Amino acid sequence: MPRERLYLFDTTLRDGAQTNGVDFTLADKLTIARMLDDLGIDYVEAGYPGANPTDTNFFFERRPLRGILTAFGMTRRPGRSTSNDPGLAALLDAQADAICFVAKSWDYHVRVALETTEEENLASIRDSVRAAKAKGREVLLDCEHFFDGYKAKPAFALACAKAAYEEGARWVVLCDTNGGTLPHEVEKIVGEVCQAIPGDHVGIHAHNDTEQAVANSFAAVRAGARQIQGTLNGLGERCGNANLVSIIPTLKLKPEFSQKFDIGVSDEKLSGLAHVSHRLDEMLNRAPDRHAPYVGDSAFTTKAGIHASAIMKEPATYEHVAPELVGNRRKLLVSDQAGKSNVLAELDRSGLIAELKSLGISLDKDDPRIARLLEEVKAREAKGYAYENAQTSFEVLARRLLGQVPDYFDVVQYDVNVEQRYNAVGEKVTVAMAIVKVKIGNETFISAAEGKGPVNALDVALRKDITKQFAPYIENLKLTDYRVRILNTGTEAVTRVLVESEDEAGDRLSTIGVSENIIDASVQALMDAIIYTLVKSRAPA
Ligand SMILES: [Zn+2]
Repeated sequence: MPRERLYLFDTTLRDGAQTNGVDFTLADKLTIARMLDDLGIDYVEAGYPGANPTDTNFFFERRPLRGILTAFGMTRRPGRSTSNDPGLAALLDAQADAICFVAKSWDYHVRVALETTEEENLASIRDSVRAAKAKGREVLLDCEHFFDGYKAKPAFALACAKAAYEEGARWVVLCDTNGGTLPHEVEKIVGEVCQAIPGDHVGIHAHNDTEQAVANSFAAVRAGARQIQGTLNGLGERCGNANLVSIIPTLKLKPEFSQKFDIGVSDEKLSGLAHVSHRLDEMLNRAPDRHAPYVGDSAFTTKAGIHASAIMKEPATYEHVAPELVGNRRKLLVSDQAGKSNVLAELDRSGLIAELKSLGISLDKDDPRIARLLEEVKAREAKGYAYENAQTSFEVLARRLLGQVPDYFDVVQYDVNVEQRYNAVGEKVTVAMAIVKVKIGNETFISAAEGKGPVNALDVALRKDITKQFAPYIENLKLTDYRVRILNTGTEAVTRVLVESEDEAGDRLSTIGVSENIIDASVQALMDAIIYTLVKSRAPA
């Protein structure tokens, strides 16, 4: 049986831009539009021309897209003609392939918000669709509050949808604007609408106020709708819109949908989905949600020992889909619940077991060094270490216990000093200075450095010393993130520092330090990154 085409409509740049704290620049919008287009989204709704300069300019700046570039706006205002409505004129003038109108479909809103009659609302829909079609645009109508409206007065809600369809709108989109409708209600109502309007002209626009926007979208598809509207990472006002990053893999990977429908996203593009999701977070300067379905860091992470053992034997035992299909990867955590199999898996992932094998050392579950490593990890976790986000430090620890870390250098002494004073022009400045004494082989080096803060000063001074011997190996190691957390371990507070660095190849190193003293914790984390880089690049000790 041939598969039916299901269309995806993205509104990250319009509804998603309503998210609290999200403020897209024109450059952001252009980048995101290209990203969506490259992913294979059919409709990219880019904004509301006339509403603000960014959105208006977007359509002047438009670049060619494979998909259908869509402008959003209101139907003509009640009591005006289409030729005498500046808002509508701006929308019709925008260089878009399609226009998505929004119109009321709840009699209560027509009366109270628009203060007009049901007949005038229907006439406004018909006139606006006709005007946009005359301009050569594909037309969509978002029926605002459709589900609430349908529950209140089904004949009127349906009349709004039919008015647009009969006038030639390509799509009539049923919006759950308040986000309070439940999946079984969506399925029933969309089913009834599809008896009056063919399903391949019906779309769903769901909001996530009961955390069911994704489920509501699928309920609508089951009932006959063939367009899904949503946003990347579920961005959107209040609790957000339906999350396309969850919807796309479900459509592609779950037989109920994949056997019936084709979408514009190819298997290859699906395997870049995690990247797309994280890239958007980066642009918004947000930490990606670790627990996001499919693409989150934890989506394919297993912690408990007995599960890890099963996963090593057969991944499908604890995974609903293969992580690579969506660009994610399987992770096994080292934790205080860890069994030997977790430690082994972690060692395996770091390539250590293979490397040991190549050196003629075979390491199996019963190797006493595995047990020793496990003991060490547990003891450190009791002190506040957490290796789940510090894989690099874990590998350094493992290699050290296995005798694979040469004595590259030894930090003999350091001193760090923070001073606040007035500078020559009378401004108050804070200056940090560090002196670090390092022994490399039989030589002792002392370097001093100033920095933006004590950690930065220490980092610079430490590298100055180490660079004297190991310059080519660590020159391009950059500190990219630094996070501090105060932990209460029961008897006293300790500081946990997580450092992220990037090496020459662009790989991210995550290291950890724990101490009662923040400076000491920072030095541990900085040193792990340097040592790891030296080991990896096989620097001679
Ligand atoms: Zn919306």
